[in-house]
Amino acid sequence: MAEKQQPAIGIDLGTTYSCVGVWHQGRVEIIANDQGNRTTPSCVAFTDKERHVGDAAKNQMGMNPTNTIFTVKRLIGRRFWDPSVQSDIKLWPFAVVEGPAGKPQVVVKHKGEEKKFYPEEISSMILTKMKEIAQTYLECPVKNAVVTVPAYFNDAQRRATKDAGLIAGLNVMRIMDEPTAAAVAYGFDKASSNSAEKKVFIFDLGGGTFDVSLISVKNGVFEVKATAGDTHLGGEDFDDRLVNYFIAEFKRKYNKDITKSPRSLGRLRSACETAKRNLSFLAQTTVEVNSLYEGIDLCSRISQARFEELNMDLFTKCMEIVEKCLKDACTDKASVDVVVLVGGSTRIPKVRELLNNYFDGKQLSRGINPDEAVAYGATVQAAHLSGQGSREVQDLVLLDVTPLSLGIEIVGGVMSVVVPRNITIPTNKVQDYTTTYDYQTDVCFRVFEGERAQTKDNYRLGEFSLRGIAPALRGVPKFDVCFDIDANGILNVSAQDRSSGQKNKITVINEETRLSDEVIEKIIQDAERYRVQDKECRKSYEAKNTLERYVYRMRNAMRNNSITSTLPFMTKMAIEEAVRETFVWVDGNQFPDVSESESRLEQLKRICAPIDHI
Ligand code: ADP
Ligand code: MG
Repeated sequence: MAEKQQPAIGIDLGTTYSCVGVWHQGRVEIIANDQGNRTTPSCVAFTDKERHVGDAAKNQMGMNPTNTIFTVKRLIGRRFWDPSVQSDIKLWPFAVVEGPAGKPQVVVKHKGEEKKFYPEEISSMILTKMKEIAQTYLECPVKNAVVTVPAYFNDAQRRATKDAGLIAGLNVMRIMDEPTAAAVAYGFDKASSNSAEKKVFIFDLGGGTFDVSLISVKNGVFEVKATAGDTHLGGEDFDDRLVNYFIAEFKRKYNKDITKSPRSLGRLRSACETAKRNLSFLAQTTVEVNSLYEGIDLCSRISQARFEELNMDLFTKCMEIVEKCLKDACTDKASVDVVVLVGGSTRIPKVRELLNNYFDGKQLSRGINPDEAVAYGATVQAAHLSGQGSREVQDLVLLDVTPLSLGIEIVGGVMSVVVPRNITIPTNKVQDYTTTYDYQTDVCFRVFEGERAQTKDNYRLGEFSLRGIAPALRGVPKFDVCFDIDANGILNVSAQDRSSGQKNKITVINEETRLSDEVIEKIIQDAERYRVQDKECRKSYEAKNTLERYVYRMRNAMRNNSITSTLPFMTKMAIEEAVRETFVWVDGNQFPDVSESESRLEQLKRICAPIDHI
């Protein structure tokens, strides 16, 4: 296979942070980005001149809130009118509109123009960034990748994530469930290779979401038994609590309301996230923001104990969800063999303590950084799929399950389940159906996903029809409806008219929420254009920087008396004038053409030649 031998990477495309790993010299290597950070904010920003992805985007968020896109994972694969999309939109500083075919699009101002992007496009920009981080490290192009998604992601969300990979120029070999990836990272496949079933409990508290899963592992086979969680609970809520605490303090001390300034709020929020991280290691920390609001500095302290008190109700909520997950899985906590910590927020000591107490002192697994565990497991899987790695990696077998029941609508809007939830995939299930009235010649199959009895309460995946059925009394025609789910969790539905003997019309792919091939093609071209533009921007920066460095060096030389005293008066005047003029030009031209910077540098060098050697 062409896929083999080539490097393959594992990407944890997180709601707030993403992480990438490569299989290198027989082991997983989590790669730091250009800022030296091992996780990268899932954040994309647009400005008049540039596009930023990752840390650079997050850092300018306070100054450019309406054009900085974050947590786009909450939109991917969903429709605009999805209630969860509607409630999220209310909380975001950037605009989301209904795009073609009911898909949401984010709206930003970029290079002076209004631009709309599908969630797939924004995610692809993040995936491209992660790919580039890997490429820089490996010093070679990378195409093959395993990308992770939450266990509860439905078919549309998985497909859209795959499309984002496609736009980023990746060959997504597998969409993998995050908890499974975390379990693989800890090598629980090996631990139980010749013993009894092991129950692994994954506790993933990240930036914006909380997910728990119970996984059973036997003979290297993984199965997600149950999942639970809260899609709006995580590190950012803890940041919020700190932000509110300091807003109140500022108000009390100075009688000033900083909430009036989005920029001040942004700066405070980022100081609070740093303080929170520090409080995972220190008993207390300082929070300082110079000139936070109307020239007044914020300078304060906060203790770990106070931080815990501010968030205690949220921590307790996490434990209630743990209990619910075990209850759903009809599993007693004593029979859980291992508890795995995943997500950056599990670094908080109080969270560990509560979890440890809940499991009656059971050891919590550590060793792999919690915010890297998912990318770590994805990388092992990528090595497995691309034929790299040791025997152990090659022996790995991964089974995932359907996160929700799948079925079709029957008379009265009733959900008839074809594939129950928690069925190991890949799977193939066939069920027979018939007509609902006499002499019916067309039947429409509506495909749904969800646990409710009525289809109106479930999630509609799509529909298709069988036409030209031989007229007969109700109940006589028989249709075989087949649900086929591949190893990526992607669903195909087909129906066959048994009575006519014809192999009939097939397939529901979730075309309604999926971008069309043409749109994807166009987006790929756009992505390439942005890449070229970004590159041009960088070149412009670099050329201007070279000029700036040179002019600073010349100015400093001119301040040195021992140099200037030897110069003829006219030469000195000419250099001073050229230096001054260059400074004016540099300040006035943010993104000059490369050629202009270069010709200015050349000219300046000529004039400064008499002092350049010094
Ligand atoms: P995601 O939820 O996007 O998958 P992560 O698992 O990387 O992302 O979690 C990110 C969250 O973890 C952020 O809210 C971040 O502030 C938090 N975090 C990271 N390090 C620490 C730490 N040392 N203490 C507390 N929280 C942390
Ligand atoms: Mg995560």
